[in-house]
Amino acid sequence: MENEFLKGKKILIVEDDLSSRLYLNKILEKAGVVILNAGDGQEAVDVALNNPDLDIILMDIQLPVMDGYTALNKIREVRQDLIIIAQTAYGLLGDKEKILNSGFNDYVIKPILSQNLIEKLITNLKRK
Ligand SMILES: [Mg+2]
Repeated sequence: MENEFLKGKKILIVEDDLSSRLYLNKILEKAGVVILNAGDGQEAVDVALNNPDLDIILMDIQLPVMDGYTALNKIREVRQDLIIIAQTAYGLLGDKEKILNSGFNDYVIKPILSQNLIEKLITNLKRK
């Protein structure tokens, strides 16, 4: 269902696993989000810096070429204000303090449930 708060918002999905990426695309498409995709950390940096109108980045941590922490740091050098939410696997739950201390605004735990993701995105947009 289209979401009045998320409709037209521009979100970059950073995910190297194709089925996970398609799943996230489907959820956000239904909500009316304008979606960009990146499959590794370097691509995430490039897309983020080339799209100053981005509203949110949904960043996987474990990525090829450059991991999510390194990509975050490179993006933060230029975009301190951008909402960047980490995607973390359940087994890596102990990393949540590290994630928040690193400069991510928030995190979602995989497997990501549609309703949780939508709520998390709205909460972070309202917090700005
Ligand atoms: Mg990954």
